[in-house]
Amino acid sequence: MNEIRHWINNKPYDAQPERWGDVYNPATGLVAGQVAFAGVDDVDAAVASARAAFPGWRDTSISARTRILFAFRDLVEKNREEIAKLLVAEHGKVFTDALGEVQRGLEVIEFACGIPHLLKGDFSENVSSQVDTYTMRQPLGVVAGITPFNFPAMVPMWMYPIAIACGNTFVLKPSEKDPSASNFSAELLAAAGLPDGVLNVVHGDKVAVDRILEHPDISGVSFVGSTPIARYVYETGTAHNKRVQALGGAKNHMIVLPDADMELAADSAVSAGYGSAGERCMAISVVVAVGDAADRLIDKMKDRMATLKVGPGDQPDSEMGPLVTGVHRDKVAGYIETGEREGATLVADGRGFAPEGHESGFFLGPTLFDNVTPDMSIYRDEIFGPVLDVVRVDTYEEAIKLINDNPWGNGTAVFTNDGGAARKFQNEIEVGMVGINVPIPVPLGFYSFGGWKESIFGSHGIYGPEGIHFYTRPKVVISRWSDPIHRGVDLGFPQQT
Ligand code: NAD
Repeated sequence: MNEIRHWINNKPYDAQPERWGDVYNPATGLVAGQVAFAGVDDVDAAVASARAAFPGWRDTSISARTRILFAFRDLVEKNREEIAKLLVAEHGKVFTDALGEVQRGLEVIEFACGIPHLLKGDFSENVSSQVDTYTMRQPLGVVAGITPFNFPAMVPMWMYPIAIACGNTFVLKPSEKDPSASNFSAELLAAAGLPDGVLNVVHGDKVAVDRILEHPDISGVSFVGSTPIARYVYETGTAHNKRVQALGGAKNHMIVLPDADMELAADSAVSAGYGSAGERCMAISVVVAVGDAADRLIDKMKDRMATLKVGPGDQPDSEMGPLVTGVHRDKVAGYIETGEREGATLVADGRGFAPEGHESGFFLGPTLFDNVTPDMSIYRDEIFGPVLDVVRVDTYEEAIKLINDNPWGNGTAVFTNDGGAARKFQNEIEVGMVGINVPIPVPLGFYSFGGWKESIFGSHGIYGPEGIHFYTRPKVVISRWSDPIHRGVDLGFPQQT
């Protein structure tokens, strides 16, 4: 049995864990490994390692830090297929999608390689006679990242490359469902020359998370996961005086106006709804069809869905893989039953589907509901599987109101050929990431990622410039040397600068 251990001080941590968790191969449904679950002592060991490494790392020259990041970037590039295989094996996504995940992580590493430029401060000469003012951004200290199952390589890469580039040391607590990519990435960083203790990985569940949230030596926490846990992490972490950014769940709507390019809209709805089996925080889960768009759109979507190949992620022709666990698959299938009971029209039913030879895998076929209404739980809840809702509305105003009334605000899209309608959308919509004829508007590494409303807790988005701000504190210095002018005691504010 494959044993996945914590990674502390640049090596596997050998203390015997009190608890282990099962890691599944979702395509077969079989347990493929056991991951160590950290107790308080294990988290403390990781934090102690990161704390010991911090003074040396923050004073390591910015060029030396950057060279390590460049070397890491090359190693991730060389090992992209190895990382992708780990994602397929534990998450279940198809290989091409896994390669795309690695690519999006690489883009953030590449952004972090620009850290010498990104950390430059401001300087103002003679703010008063012979007095200068300048700013710098300094690392927080030990920071932690807690990440979800759905992007086991990319979401950690949204965090630690930027955090360590800024001079912090890092403790990563990845999802216990697919932990191996994090250990492999840590090994690559060690091979790139990262000093001991700068990046540590602890595995586990709530016990590990709670210790991170209350640990006095951790200054900041980045979290990505579901909204209830994001809220909990934000409230608990900030109550312990930590800086916290906590990105939560989503229900992403895609409006299709009657004038849209229906072929493009149908391609996009199917790709964004069922890619990665709907287990993406930026997946489209609601299509809002305006006026007479619905019938035309649904016919075209059905054509595309009929040819989708669902199968194990390691088979080259598979386009959609299994869900991550049996429990999650059953929960998603439960929503299909609920949707029918609530009165939505089941256009395509993915239940009971299993590719030949993989009957025990956690598969569910693409599912489409029409005539969904906002009071139904299949509309209100984040299902996080291959279940797409179509809501029909009469007007564009109604469609916009539906999105703005929704508690989540991660991503959204409008499909139209009318520039005025598109501009209205970008102006009025209360969502953080907006696509215009683009279904999954995930910003590249040099922008920042973040939703609005219940999709984020805290004031910083993740990676890009917001990441630099999150992982650093500003300091302003006012400096005077050999000043012949400002002499003598004066208890008032200066009246002239
Ligand atoms: P999750 O919230 O269940 O788990 C996320 C992390 O929190 C994991 O590391 C897990 O071990 C830990 N955790 C789980 N329960 C906990 C508890 N009770 N106390 C403390 N820690 C706990 O999320 P998930 O199922 O792994 O991932 C899917 C969710 O993540 C979806 O809601 C998805 O929308 C969201 N997500 C959001 C983004 C984004 O950028 N906004 C990106 C990816 C995923």
